[in-house]
Amino acid sequence: MSAIDRPVTIADVLARTTGYLEGKGVENARLDTELILSQALGLPRIELYTQHDRPLTEAELATARPLVERRGRREPLAYVLGEWGFRKLMLKVDSNVLVPRPETEIVVERCLALIRELESPVVLDIGTGSGPIALSIVSEHPGARVVATDISEGALAVARENAERCGVADRVELVRGHLTAHVHGAFDLVVSNPPYVPPGDWDSLQPEIRLYEPREAVVGVGQTAAVARRALPLLVPGSWLVLEVGDGQAQEVADELGSLGYADVRITPDLAGRERVVEGRWA
Ligand code: SAM
Ligand code: GLN
Repeated sequence: MSAIDRPVTIADVLARTTGYLEGKGVENARLDTELILSQALGLPRIELYTQHDRPLTEAELATARPLVERRGRREPLAYVLGEWGFRKLMLKVDSNVLVPRPETEIVVERCLALIRELESPVVLDIGTGSGPIALSIVSEHPGARVVATDISEGALAVARENAERCGVADRVELVRGHLTAHVHGAFDLVVSNPPYVPPGDWDSLQPEIRLYEPREAVVGVGQTAAVARRALPLLVPGSWLVLEVGDGQAQEVADELGSLGYADVRITPDLAGRERVVEGRWA
């Protein structure tokens, strides 16, 4: 068989696609290639190596090609794959929602630590997006119930689907509205990852964010402080507020919580050592 007729193997496609995505400026081109191929071929990633000399069928190539092209246009890998892992959950994601970030897993970590002793805590998640915070809390605390809000109907539709998918829909109530509008009751914990990126930073963000993620999920002015104020009438004495904050904003937010009357204000770094989570107790 001549070189021209030689069938295209998995190894060939891995190498070519990695080179193609590198050329498009994709950061982890090899890993992204493996994840896209593994999904397109319906194979666990390891099998791409154990079957590396297996030829691909035309149908397989036709499935993989548009996914690779989307990633080449710098669409986030999570949107290309249609789902994304967050803590113990696999969540559906699309362009209606921010892709759940690793630093937000630390937000959940703090929430779970603060409600651990409570048998049936009631939690409010403001700006739930695809639902990573709300759904992780009910999944990891069997007695918890969560009310989750978002201004975006598209985001709430994704959160609703994820609640069903994770089998926790009976313990999650979704509410559409601005911050805490239409939310009543008393909560043991209010948590939020609000839009906090300053408008002036938008143009310098990577294309994955700037070209694809909902701007209103990322860019915000004064939303963090608004959440801290709006949470006050909903908290019972001794209950907690937990906020994800932007890089470099932690001290300012901590001071703000102090001046609003929150006690035991604490800052927690993310895995990269950046101060990203601020919490306070309503005394
Ligand atoms: N909680 C998700 C997470 O951690 O991945 C999404 C966080 S994203 C940074 C902020 C979310 O807040 C978006 O889903 C956006 O639609 C929502 N949002 C923006 N402004 C809002 C407002 N005024 N009231 C309620 N939700 C809002
Ligand atoms: N962490 C996101 C980013 O890197 C922003 C999320 C937010 O605004 N809450 O852009």
